[in-house]
Amino acid sequence: MKAAAAAILWAALAVSASAQPPAAPSPFPPRRAVADQGTPLLSPALIANADRLRDEAMKGDDVAYDVLEGLTTEIGPRPAASEAEHRAAEWMAAKMKALGFQNVHLEPFAMTARVRGVETAEVTAPFPQRLVITALGGSVATPPDGIEAEAVVFKTYDELLAAPVGSLTGKIAVVTQPMPRTGDGSGYGMSYQIRGLGPSEAARRGAVAYLLRSLATDSHRLPHTGALAYLPGVPQIPAAALSVPDAEQIDRIAARGKPIRIHLTLTPTLRPGATSYTVVGDVVGREKPDEVVLIGGHLDSWDLGTGAIDDGAGDAITIAAAKLIMDLPQHPRRTIRVALFGAEEVGVSNLSFAAAHPAAEQAKMVIASECDFGADHIYAIGLPKGAAGSSFGRTLGRVVAPIGTYISPETPRDAGADLENLVGVPLAGLAQDGTRYFDLHHTADDTLDKIDKAQMNQNVAAWAAFAYLAADSDVDFRALAKP
Ligand code: ZN
Ligand code: ZN
Repeated sequence: MKAAAAAILWAALAVSASAQPPAAPSPFPPRRAVADQGTPLLSPALIANADRLRDEAMKGDDVAYDVLEGLTTEIGPRPAASEAEHRAAEWMAAKMKALGFQNVHLEPFAMTARVRGVETAEVTAPFPQRLVITALGGSVATPPDGIEAEAVVFKTYDELLAAPVGSLTGKIAVVTQPMPRTGDGSGYGMSYQIRGLGPSEAARRGAVAYLLRSLATDSHRLPHTGALAYLPGVPQIPAAALSVPDAEQIDRIAARGKPIRIHLTLTPTLRPGATSYTVVGDVVGREKPDEVVLIGGHLDSWDLGTGAIDDGAGDAITIAAAKLIMDLPQHPRRTIRVALFGAEEVGVSNLSFAAAHPAAEQAKMVIASECDFGADHIYAIGLPKGAAGSSFGRTLGRVVAPIGTYISPETPRDAGADLENLVGVPLAGLAQDGTRYFDLHHTADDTLDKIDKAQMNQNVAAWAAFAYLAADSDVDFRALAKP
């Protein structure tokens, strides 16, 4: 570029820059790295072991993939408290024993199982055509031959909430609000109530059934299931998720302005008195075996896919991390316990696990974290209050920095649903990249081929470093949290 032309361009840029309005203040708090307070690192021996675990995992010894391949192939779908979930629990217990875990056992708990039935839907007017749907977990059934009613389409959930009581009497409420794609799961978190509470909010206004656009980021014609939560004192109405293209089809039909009628048939059934299982296995600590670092995933899955990303991956990653630690020349001082929860998807194992492990036992849990967001890259680790800048946090940060993971300055937003009823147990969250998670989540497309082996190995590396340093140091997360 000639100097004169450059001068003209720069002048033009300067004018356009000065014409810009002043930048609005960011709605987000400033990001900051964990301050280095000069805290000493943990011992060189611990760092060397953690580095070695990380490097071994990154090489890929394939324990994680083998566990996941076996589970998804030999068991496949495993809804909570189904016969398949029982087989999965026995399969995992046998696998963990074969890998060398100690104290491997099943912890049974009673619950009501849900069995999917027929699920069909059609637009009957003004443009008759089939819709692709799936029942939400926990939905009541329609009569065997279904229900047909006029549909009222809401482009957003807020529009449904703004509808007066009685305005939907005898109608089918349809919410077509899209879910944003985010890497950290926040899009799902903010949309969750559309599925969880939408059925009761629609029923409160008189609706006889509820449909929502799947909480999803893909555009495939596969509906995404998931649990609902009926509110007490409100009639329970049948509820299902439309695939994203079907929800968009409903939007286009609604834009034509003619009344829409939908015929919906759902025939799920309940099986009371069923049993689900938590599978537990230990790497027993060499000095303080009663102090426990608790990690794991959930073993149940929805029935549509084979539960590879949700959450066979979490089981496989934490088992593989514990296996690497087990194979060190000596066990860590504290016990590493892997727990595979039996009924996460339906919100039961969080209650049953906390109930089965009383306060005295929870007081011996050093730290706990559940891996339940697929198998893509772990980019951050959130630690309990006061731990990020501690010797533990600084050492872990140093060990995981080479694999593209940092220690978050914030405490974890999510440490796994199955841990949420533990009392006073310090929680950590290893944050996975969830950018593509909701393309697959809770669909028939949640299958083994979606796993990226290299990224899963990186997960094993981060989990191994985290669990090892917590178990072989004397870090006291409860003390660090005190002001
Ligand atoms: Zn899950
Ligand atoms: Zn799930």
